[in-house]
Amino acid sequence: MNTKDIKEIYDRYVIPNYIRNPILLVRGSGVDVWDAEGKRYLDLFSGWAVSLLGHCHPNVVAAVQNQAAKLQHAPNIYYTEPQGLLAKYISEKSFSGQCFFCNSGAEANEAAIKLARIHNSSSGKYKIITFSNSFHGRTLATVTATAQPKYHKGFAPLVEGFSYVPFNDLEALKKEVDDATCAIMLEPIQGEGGINIATKEFMQGIRKLCDEKGLQLILDEVQCGMGRSGKYFAYQHYGIEPDIMTLAKALGGGVAIGAMTAKKEIAKSLVPGSHASTFGGNPLACAAGVAVFETIENKNLLENVKRMGSYAVEQLKILQKTYKIIKDVRGVGLMIGIELNGNGAEIIKSCIQAGLFLNCTHDTVIRFMPPLNVTKEHIDEGLNILKTVLSKT
Ligand SMILES: *Cc1c(COP(=O)(O)O)cnc(C)c1O
Repeated sequence: MNTKDIKEIYDRYVIPNYIRNPILLVRGSGVDVWDAEGKRYLDLFSGWAVSLLGHCHPNVVAAVQNQAAKLQHAPNIYYTEPQGLLAKYISEKSFSGQCFFCNSGAEANEAAIKLARIHNSSSGKYKIITFSNSFHGRTLATVTATAQPKYHKGFAPLVEGFSYVPFNDLEALKKEVDDATCAIMLEPIQGEGGINIATKEFMQGIRKLCDEKGLQLILDEVQCGMGRSGKYFAYQHYGIEPDIMTLAKALGGGVAIGAMTAKKEIAKSLVPGSHASTFGGNPLACAAGVAVFETIENKNLLENVKRMGSYAVEQLKILQKTYKIIKDVRGVGLMIGIELNGNGAEIIKSCIQAGLFLNCTHDTVIRFMPPLNVTKEHIDEGLNILKTVLSKT
């Protein structure tokens, strides 16, 4: 099938809730993706940070192939090795908590919200505070947690018990906490909101506030986790620990999976019958997740993230000197935002036409999130394309 054929099928049979580029993707390998007409694209966006090790990393492929031939699904009333091993990896690389598995970021956050509520249910506390420009998912509760009116439009009434304060504003947060507050939820580095980095004072202040008031700190690391920041989890840059953390996107290296991990004394509130997911923790997705952790370890990828992240920011700051449309370059590790003095949609369109996948979020912020095993050559190639596009705008 060519692009035109599949487009006709989509137009007739697929709900048009996405704006799609007229490109039929058929194959990916590392940073490269090809369309049906054989054109190659350099993918430095990784599909919202999902393709953590590039497309079809051989270790992920092998893990999925082996597991697919052995056992693909097992109900959660039995044990499987991949689920146990993945939970062990997440726990050992973070804060020694226990895991619940699901299939997406929204579901992981939904689980976190439910856990915070059930854990505090005997005290009557139920309110959760989130932050402006956050993004937590599209289910009704997680979209309510997402403090951006544009995502709420048309879905009222929303879930009760959420309120919002400005990001990085500790004083506003302190004022918002009341006797019914049970949790504070945030992304250490906001992704969709435009690569906004929580300050150290803010994050440590929130931890202190949570300790003083007996609140749960929920960190949404769906986008910034899994090594993207140069540490396994972004909170590890702050010298604090959350009580609950959520993961998804990159966790399966391209395979759909979500996870919530929580401190043991909180996790125990999720008693049998209180929460579940049919596909959650299925052996296929968990085997992929285990392969992702093994690969980050064996290839020393966190080191590469730090080196390539600094290199990319340095090169982008050089670009900034020539191209006045670049207002700011900021990031941690390989989670980098290029803020423009104007809308970036056309620039991204031109980049895609020129063979480079990037994304623009929040109208003006180009997101640069290549795979963790990216090389200098890939970065140079991508920035050359970007340069060419910028010089024509
Ligand atoms: C993408 C994202 C989500 C939602 O994940 P889905 O898998 O699309 O449900 C939640 N939180 C953050 C920070 C995200 O980036």
